Amino acid sequence: MILLARQQSQMHRILEALIRRLPSTHVDYMNYFDRLMRIQAGFAGEKRVDAEWLEINLPNPHYFLHDLQILNHFGNTHQIDSLLLCPHFILILEIKNITGFLEYDESFTQFTRTTSQGDVDGMIDPFHQVRRHAEWIKRMLKKYKVEIPVHYAVVLATKNAILSESLKGQPIFHASGLRYHIKELFKQHKELMLGADDLLLFATKLLSRHMPIKREITIPVRDIVKGVLCVRCSNGQRMSYHSIKWTCPRCGLVDRDAIFRTLEDYKLLVGDSLTNKSFCDFFAVDSSDLAYRLLQKLPVKAEGIKKHRKYWIKDG
Ligand SMILES: [Zn+2]
Repeated sequence: MILLARQQSQMHRILEALIRRLPSTHVDYMNYFDRLMRIQAGFAGEKRVDAEWLEINLPNPHYFLHDLQILNHFGNTHQIDSLLLCPHFILILEIKNITGFLEYDESFTQFTRTTSQGDVDGMIDPFHQVRRHAEWIKRMLKKYKVEIPVHYAVVLATKNAILSESLKGQPIFHASGLRYHIKELFKQHKELMLGADDLLLFATKLLSRHMPIKREITIPVRDIVKGVLCVRCSNGQRMSYHSIKWTCPRCGLVDRDAIFRTLEDYKLLVGDSLTNKSFCDFFAVDSSDLAYRLLQKLPVKAEGIKKHRKYWIKDG
Protein backbone atom coordinates (compact mmCIF):
# COMPACT_ATOMS: atom_id res chain seq x y z
CA MET A 1 0.00 0.00 0.00
CA ILE A 2 1.29 3.44 -0.88
CA LEU A 3 1.03 5.69 2.17
CA LEU A 4 2.82 8.60 0.51
CA ALA A 5 2.56 8.90 -3.26
CA ARG A 6 5.21 10.56 -5.36
CA GLN A 7 4.22 14.01 -6.56
CA GLN A 8 5.80 16.76 -8.59
CA SER A 9 7.75 19.02 -6.23
CA GLN A 10 6.71 22.64 -5.87
CA MET A 11 9.99 23.66 -7.55
CA HIS A 12 9.11 21.42 -10.50
CA ARG A 13 5.72 23.15 -10.87
CA ILE A 14 7.20 26.64 -10.43
CA LEU A 15 9.79 26.00 -13.14
CA GLU A 16 7.11 24.64 -15.50
CA ALA A 17 5.03 27.80 -14.98
CA LEU A 18 8.11 29.97 -15.42
CA ILE A 19 9.07 28.31 -18.70
CA ARG A 20 5.48 28.76 -19.95
CA ARG A 21 5.65 32.46 -19.20
CA LEU A 22 9.23 33.62 -19.61
CA PRO A 23 10.21 34.88 -23.09
CA SER A 24 12.80 32.51 -24.55
CA THR A 25 15.03 35.55 -25.16
CA HIS A 26 15.18 36.29 -21.40
CA VAL A 27 18.73 36.31 -20.01
CA ASP A 28 17.91 33.56 -17.45
CA TYR A 29 15.62 31.45 -19.66
CA MET A 30 18.22 28.75 -20.44
CA ASN A 31 19.24 28.54 -16.80
CA TYR A 32 15.61 27.86 -15.71
CA PHE A 33 15.08 25.57 -18.69
CA ASP A 34 18.13 23.44 -17.80
CA ARG A 35 16.97 23.21 -14.18
CA LEU A 36 13.53 22.11 -15.32
CA MET A 37 15.02 19.48 -17.66
CA ARG A 38 17.12 18.05 -14.81
CA ILE A 39 14.13 17.93 -12.44
CA GLN A 40 11.90 16.38 -15.13
CA ALA A 41 14.50 13.69 -15.92
CA GLY A 42 14.92 12.91 -12.21
CA PHE A 43 11.15 12.66 -11.71
CA ALA A 44 10.75 10.42 -14.78
CA GLY A 45 13.55 8.19 -13.44
CA GLU A 46 11.85 7.88 -10.05
CA LYS A 47 8.58 6.99 -11.79
CA ARG A 48 10.39 4.27 -13.77
CA VAL A 49 11.66 2.72 -10.55
CA ASP A 50 8.15 2.99 -8.99
CA ALA A 51 6.82 1.03 -11.98
CA GLU A 52 9.27 -1.84 -11.23
CA TRP A 53 7.53 -2.42 -7.89
CA LEU A 54 4.26 -3.24 -9.68
CA GLU A 55 5.79 -6.50 -10.90
CA ILE A 56 7.30 -7.54 -7.59
CA ASN A 57 5.33 -9.72 -5.19
CA LEU A 58 5.50 -8.39 -1.68
CA PRO A 59 3.98 -9.88 1.46
CA ASN A 60 1.12 -8.00 3.05
CA PRO A 61 1.02 -5.72 4.84
CA HIS A 62 3.70 -3.50 3.37
CA TYR A 63 3.89 0.25 3.03
CA PHE A 64 5.61 2.62 0.63
CA LEU A 65 6.56 6.19 1.41
CA HIS A 66 7.84 7.91 -1.72
CA ASP A 67 9.81 11.16 -1.58
CA LEU A 68 9.58 11.40 2.19
CA GLN A 69 10.88 14.79 3.31
CA ILE A 70 11.83 15.27 6.92
CA LEU A 71 13.53 17.89 9.02
CA ASN A 72 15.64 16.07 11.61
CA HIS A 73 16.34 17.29 15.13
CA PHE A 74 19.67 18.79 14.01
CA GLY A 75 17.67 21.04 11.65
CA ASN A 76 18.95 19.20 8.55
CA THR A 77 16.75 17.69 5.90
CA HIS A 78 16.31 14.12 4.69
CA GLN A 79 14.76 13.55 1.30
CA ILE A 80 14.22 9.81 0.93
CA ASP A 81 13.37 8.76 -2.63
CA SER A 82 11.58 5.54 -1.62
CA LEU A 83 11.04 3.76 1.65
CA LEU A 84 9.57 0.27 1.85
CA LEU A 85 8.38 -1.00 5.21
CA CYS A 86 7.42 -4.65 5.53
CA PRO A 87 7.29 -7.00 8.53
CA HIS A 88 10.73 -8.44 7.70
CA PHE A 89 12.84 -5.32 7.06
CA ILE A 90 12.91 -1.69 5.99
CA LEU A 91 14.49 -0.75 2.68
CA ILE A 92 15.61 2.76 1.71
CA LEU A 93 16.23 3.53 -1.95
CA GLU A 94 18.23 6.41 -3.36
CA ILE A 95 17.27 6.76 -7.02
CA LYS A 96 19.86 8.18 -9.39
CA ASN A 97 19.34 9.32 -12.92
CA ILE A 98 22.99 9.49 -13.95
CA THR A 99 24.52 8.40 -17.20
CA GLY A 100 28.13 7.53 -18.07
CA PHE A 101 30.83 5.23 -16.71
CA LEU A 102 30.62 5.25 -12.91
CA GLU A 103 33.58 4.71 -10.59
CA TYR A 104 33.89 4.73 -6.83
CA ASP A 105 36.75 5.06 -4.38
CA GLU A 106 35.40 4.28 -0.94
CA SER A 107 38.49 5.44 0.94
CA PHE A 108 38.14 8.92 -0.61
CA THR A 109 34.28 8.72 -0.67
CA GLN A 110 34.79 9.74 -4.27
CA PHE A 111 32.16 8.98 -6.88
CA THR A 112 32.88 9.96 -10.48
CA ARG A 113 31.34 9.50 -13.87
CA THR A 114 33.06 9.65 -17.21
CA THR A 115 30.83 10.88 -20.02
CA SER A 116 30.84 9.49 -23.55
CA GLN A 117 32.87 12.59 -24.49
CA GLY A 118 35.53 11.56 -21.97
CA ASP A 119 34.82 14.30 -19.41
CA VAL A 120 35.20 13.22 -15.78
CA ASP A 121 32.65 14.73 -13.36
CA GLY A 122 32.77 14.45 -9.59
CA MET A 123 29.36 13.47 -8.12
CA ILE A 124 27.92 13.48 -4.62
CA ASP A 125 28.64 10.08 -3.02
CA PRO A 126 25.17 8.42 -3.15
CA PHE A 127 26.15 5.84 -0.50
CA HIS A 128 26.92 8.60 1.94
CA GLN A 129 23.49 10.14 1.23
CA VAL A 130 21.53 6.92 1.66
CA ARG A 131 23.55 5.80 4.73
CA ARG A 132 22.69 9.12 6.35
CA HIS A 133 18.98 8.39 5.80
CA ALA A 134 19.44 4.85 7.18
CA GLU A 135 21.08 6.23 10.32
CA TRP A 136 18.15 8.58 10.84
CA ILE A 137 15.64 5.72 10.43
CA LYS A 138 17.66 3.65 12.92
CA ARG A 139 17.51 6.52 15.43
CA MET A 140 13.73 6.68 14.95
CA LEU A 141 13.43 2.90 15.46
CA LYS A 142 15.41 3.17 18.66
CA LYS A 143 13.27 6.06 19.87
CA TYR A 144 10.08 4.02 19.36
CA LYS A 145 11.73 0.81 20.62
CA VAL A 146 11.13 -1.02 17.35
CA GLU A 147 13.54 -3.72 16.20
CA ILE A 148 13.80 -4.46 12.51
CA PRO A 149 16.73 -4.63 10.06
CA VAL A 150 17.31 -1.55 7.89
CA HIS A 151 18.75 -1.94 4.39
CA TYR A 152 19.56 0.61 1.75
CA ALA A 153 20.48 0.66 -1.92
CA VAL A 154 21.21 3.02 -4.77
CA VAL A 155 19.09 2.34 -7.84
CA LEU A 156 20.06 3.58 -11.29
CA ALA A 157 17.01 4.72 -13.22
CA THR A 158 18.69 4.79 -16.61
CA LYS A 159 20.39 1.97 -18.47
CA ASN A 160 22.90 4.51 -19.79
CA ALA A 161 24.82 4.27 -16.53
CA ILE A 162 27.68 1.76 -16.70
CA LEU A 163 28.91 0.42 -13.39
CA SER A 164 32.65 -0.19 -13.12
CA GLU A 165 34.36 -3.01 -11.16
CA SER A 166 35.12 -0.48 -8.42
CA LEU A 167 31.43 -0.62 -7.44
CA LYS A 168 31.41 -4.38 -6.96
CA GLY A 169 30.04 -5.32 -3.54
CA GLN A 170 28.32 -1.97 -3.09
CA PRO A 171 24.51 -1.85 -2.81
CA ILE A 172 23.97 -0.35 -6.27
CA PHE A 173 22.13 -1.79 -9.28
CA HIS A 174 19.94 -0.90 -12.24
CA ALA A 175 16.17 -0.58 -11.78
CA SER A 176 15.71 -3.94 -13.49
CA GLY A 177 17.75 -5.55 -10.67
CA LEU A 178 15.29 -4.50 -8.00
CA ARG A 179 13.33 -7.74 -8.19
CA TYR A 180 16.47 -9.87 -7.63
CA HIS A 181 17.64 -7.63 -4.79
CA ILE A 182 14.27 -7.91 -3.01
CA LYS A 183 14.27 -11.68 -3.41
CA GLU A 184 17.70 -11.85 -1.77
CA LEU A 185 16.53 -9.67 1.13
CA PHE A 186 13.57 -11.98 1.78
CA LYS A 187 15.90 -15.01 1.70
CA GLN A 188 18.08 -13.26 4.28
CA HIS A 189 15.17 -12.19 6.52
CA LYS A 190 12.64 -15.01 6.71
CA GLU A 191 11.56 -14.06 10.22
CA LEU A 192 8.68 -11.65 10.87
CA MET A 193 10.07 -8.83 12.98
CA LEU A 194 6.95 -6.70 13.35
CA GLY A 195 3.23 -7.34 13.70
CA ALA A 196 0.80 -5.59 11.36
CA ASP A 197 -0.27 -2.99 13.94
CA ASP A 198 3.27 -2.05 14.94
CA LEU A 199 4.33 -1.81 11.31
CA LEU A 200 1.48 0.55 10.46
CA LEU A 201 2.09 2.56 13.61
CA PHE A 202 5.76 3.13 12.75
CA ALA A 203 4.95 3.92 9.09
CA THR A 204 2.33 6.46 10.23
CA LYS A 205 4.84 8.04 12.63
CA LEU A 206 7.25 8.57 9.74
CA LEU A 207 4.46 9.93 7.55
CA SER A 208 3.44 12.43 10.22
CA ARG A 209 6.98 13.88 10.05
CA HIS A 210 6.69 14.50 6.29
CA MET A 211 6.96 18.17 5.45
CA PRO A 212 7.72 19.18 1.86
CA ILE A 213 10.96 21.15 1.86
CA LYS A 214 10.54 24.69 0.54
CA ARG A 215 13.28 25.85 -1.78
CA GLU A 216 13.56 29.52 -2.47
CA ILE A 217 13.63 30.77 -6.02
CA THR A 218 13.65 34.40 -7.12
CA ILE A 219 10.98 34.78 -9.77
CA PRO A 220 11.47 37.57 -12.32
CA VAL A 221 7.73 38.47 -12.05
CA ARG A 222 8.20 41.74 -13.93
CA ASP A 223 9.64 39.91 -16.95
CA ILE A 224 7.06 37.15 -17.31
CA VAL A 225 4.35 37.17 -19.98
CA LYS A 226 0.99 38.19 -18.49
CA GLY A 227 -2.48 37.17 -19.60
CA VAL A 228 -4.61 34.07 -20.03
CA LEU A 229 -2.44 32.11 -22.45
CA CYS A 230 -3.43 29.77 -25.26
CA VAL A 231 -2.16 26.20 -24.71
CA ARG A 232 -2.39 25.32 -28.38
CA CYS A 233 -0.30 28.26 -29.64
CA SER A 234 2.02 27.94 -26.61
CA ASN A 235 4.18 30.90 -27.56
CA GLY A 236 2.82 33.38 -25.05
CA GLN A 237 -0.28 33.98 -27.21
CA ARG A 238 -2.96 35.71 -25.13
CA MET A 239 -6.61 34.69 -25.25
CA SER A 240 -9.35 37.29 -25.09
CA TYR A 241 -12.60 37.32 -23.16
CA HIS A 242 -15.82 37.84 -25.11
CA SER A 243 -19.36 36.61 -24.54
CA ILE A 244 -18.33 34.79 -21.34
CA LYS A 245 -15.69 32.74 -23.17
CA TRP A 246 -11.91 32.81 -23.43
CA THR A 247 -11.01 32.54 -27.10
CA CYS A 248 -7.63 32.57 -28.82
CA PRO A 249 -7.69 35.21 -31.57
CA ARG A 250 -4.94 33.34 -33.42
CA CYS A 251 -6.12 29.70 -33.53
CA GLY A 252 -9.74 30.13 -32.44
CA LEU A 253 -9.46 27.76 -29.44
CA VAL A 254 -12.18 28.22 -26.83
CA ASP A 255 -10.84 27.06 -23.47
CA ARG A 256 -12.86 26.90 -20.25
CA ASP A 257 -9.84 25.80 -18.21
CA ALA A 258 -7.48 28.55 -19.37
CA ILE A 259 -8.43 30.93 -16.56
CA PHE A 260 -7.96 28.23 -13.90
CA ARG A 261 -4.50 27.45 -15.29
CA THR A 262 -3.69 31.16 -15.14
CA LEU A 263 -4.77 31.24 -11.51
CA GLU A 264 -2.48 28.25 -10.83
CA ASP A 265 0.41 30.06 -12.56
CA TYR A 266 -0.32 33.15 -10.46
CA LYS A 267 -0.25 31.06 -7.29
CA LEU A 268 3.06 29.44 -8.24
CA LEU A 269 4.80 32.57 -9.47
CA VAL A 270 3.30 35.38 -7.38
CA GLY A 271 1.56 34.01 -4.30
CA ASP A 272 -1.62 32.89 -2.55
CA SER A 273 -3.51 36.19 -2.53
CA LEU A 274 -4.89 38.55 -5.17
CA THR A 275 -6.38 42.02 -5.29
CA ASN A 276 -8.51 43.39 -8.10
CA LYS A 277 -5.43 45.31 -9.25
CA SER A 278 -3.02 42.33 -9.18
CA PHE A 279 -5.66 40.27 -11.00
CA CYS A 280 -5.95 42.91 -13.76
CA ASP A 281 -2.16 43.00 -14.07
CA PHE A 282 -1.49 39.23 -14.19
CA PHE A 283 -4.57 38.22 -16.20
CA ALA A 284 -4.11 41.23 -18.54
CA VAL A 285 -7.67 42.43 -17.96
CA ASP A 286 -8.14 46.20 -18.30
CA SER A 287 -11.53 46.60 -16.60
CA SER A 288 -11.81 46.28 -12.84
CA ASP A 289 -15.55 45.47 -13.25
CA LEU A 290 -14.71 42.51 -15.46
CA ALA A 291 -11.96 41.47 -13.01
CA TYR A 292 -14.55 41.56 -10.19
CA ARG A 293 -16.96 39.36 -12.18
CA LEU A 294 -14.25 36.88 -13.18
CA LEU A 295 -12.98 36.63 -9.60
CA GLN A 296 -16.47 35.55 -8.48
CA LYS A 297 -16.14 32.44 -10.64
CA LEU A 298 -12.74 31.41 -9.34
CA PRO A 299 -11.94 29.22 -6.31
CA VAL A 300 -10.98 32.17 -4.13
CA LYS A 301 -12.14 33.37 -0.73
CA ALA A 302 -12.82 37.11 -0.41
CA GLU A 303 -11.77 39.05 2.65
CA GLY A 304 -12.35 42.75 3.39
CA ILE A 305 -14.54 45.21 1.54
CA LYS A 306 -14.37 47.52 -1.46
CA LYS A 307 -10.86 48.57 -2.37
CA HIS A 308 -9.32 46.73 0.59
CA ARG A 309 -10.78 43.46 -0.63
CA LYS A 310 -8.29 40.60 -0.86
CA TYR A 311 -8.88 37.21 -2.41
CA TRP A 312 -7.18 34.07 -1.09
CA ILE A 313 -6.67 31.26 -3.57
CA LYS A 314 -8.11 28.02 -2.23
CA ASP A 315 -6.01 24.84 -2.26
CA GLY A 316 -6.48 22.13 -4.83
ZN1 LIG B 1 -4.15 29.71 -29.95
